[in-house]
Amino acid sequence: PLMSDTYDLIVIGGGTGGYPAAIRAGQLGMKAVCINAWLNRDNKPAYGGTCLNAGCIPSKALLESSEMFHRAGHELATHGVKVNAPTLDLVAMQARKSKITSSLTGGIGALFKANGVTGLEGTARLMGKGKVEYTSHSGEKKVLEGKHIIVATGSEPVELKIAPFDHKQICDSWDALDFTEVPGRLGIIGAGVIGVELGSVWARLGSKVTILEALPTFLPMVDQTIAKDAQRQFTKQGLDIRLGAKVISAKSNGKEAVVEYESEGAKKSETFDKLIVAVGRRPYTKGLNAEGVGLELDPRGFVKVDKNYKTNLAGVYATGDVIGGLMLAHKAIEEGVALVEQLHGEKTEVNYNAVPSVIYTTPEVAWVGLTEEQAKAAGHEVKIGASPFAANGRAKALEAATGSVKVISDAKTDRILGVHMIGPYVSEILQSVVVALEFGATTADLQLTMHGHPTLAEALHEAYLAVDGRAIHA
Ligand code: FAD
Repeated sequence: PLMSDTYDLIVIGGGTGGYPAAIRAGQLGMKAVCINAWLNRDNKPAYGGTCLNAGCIPSKALLESSEMFHRAGHELATHGVKVNAPTLDLVAMQARKSKITSSLTGGIGALFKANGVTGLEGTARLMGKGKVEYTSHSGEKKVLEGKHIIVATGSEPVELKIAPFDHKQICDSWDALDFTEVPGRLGIIGAGVIGVELGSVWARLGSKVTILEALPTFLPMVDQTIAKDAQRQFTKQGLDIRLGAKVISAKSNGKEAVVEYESEGAKKSETFDKLIVAVGRRPYTKGLNAEGVGLELDPRGFVKVDKNYKTNLAGVYATGDVIGGLMLAHKAIEEGVALVEQLHGEKTEVNYNAVPSVIYTTPEVAWVGLTEEQAKAAGHEVKIGASPFAANGRAKALEAATGSVKVISDAKTDRILGVHMIGPYVSEILQSVVVALEFGATTADLQLTMHGHPTLAEALHEAYLAVDGRAIHA
């Protein structure tokens, strides 16, 4: 017989779109349950979804380790630190990565406990009228009733029909985080954020990396002054980035992946030891019974929501990757938290004009707000300020004085419209721009703001000054 449990809030999905929402609900005194289907490679359940288990965190762990390896071989001598040529222990590198992810995902259970949230491991299925069927990993079923239901079932890698995954030679991004050997020849389809991050990891560890990108433009979402510098720097690092390369097919012969593609009107072919398909992510709603209960999806499969995350079904909401927009962990977190606060009667809103984006290469690429091209297309009269890291003392001390900051400011209102950067740890200095945008800062406000010396953030300050031709070190 099915037992029934009643909750104020049922969260389906324990990724960044789901688990923070459940915790916030607990803090606000709501009786909340979070059902999460995720199983790791070893079949162990884990909270945190893609981000913690197969995305943000493991990729950043490997980016850091591979950068260490690269620097040990290429940079230490410049500092006067003499060491023997480094050797790679990939098993230890992967073990460190796994330790980081499991310590973070393991902590979520404790956070649930501390906030009175019930965590359930297994799958959830919508049953209509506030009901959700929960099936544990061992197959027991239970019906839960919820006043509110949040669908935060996330996304999965897009699979190309012309390049089906065998997860050995033709891999997705999760496979590529778990390689146990450094591929000699690594092909990547897609020069997006995930493609260039994974390409960087394996190139630093010794792979010959070729990235095939169908679009003619590199990083079209980034201001093109910055994107062009990124392309130049990544190419110098050994990433062979081929734009306008349309893949026709990829086939695995069990040892290698053979890729046929078209470029400049000619058919070409490349053979790789491993091929990563990184052409984007699609919404994941398998097993949710969306069709059965009439949950409306858009033509691409994203759950349709209004600005308050309401779906077409009463009491059912959705957040995170499954509703589309920027598929980023922090965007998913803020949506879940804002929604729960709204359900609690507060007026919280997410400001989609101030969502930070980062590519964690070396140097990093980070941006928020409009590009110069977008600002002009939106009818703004713009003032531009730029500052190179070559003139920044801290960047020089870090042996990382490359890249620049570009500020896009509104000539009429003096407000900041966007900041796009490439340079050392620009992900960290980007956050001050996000705060400035939230507070509607003008360029003059930011010019008058003292920035510590010597810091990387001084390049940002110089760029604010440069908007009005008053940079000190230009
Ligand atoms: P998910 O993380 O996909 O979580 C959904 C959860 O729901 C999963 O645990 C799933 O098992 C569960 N689920 C699905 N269906 C059901 C069901 N029926 N019942 C119960 N549970 C279910 N973003 C950043 O902001 N910064 C980064 O640096 C970054 N790096 C990335 C690197 C890679 C390689 C990848 C792939 C992604 C990266 N992302 C990054 C994107 C980020 O991972 C996602 O935006 C984020 O995970 C979205 O969270 P979510 O909760 O919406 O979805």
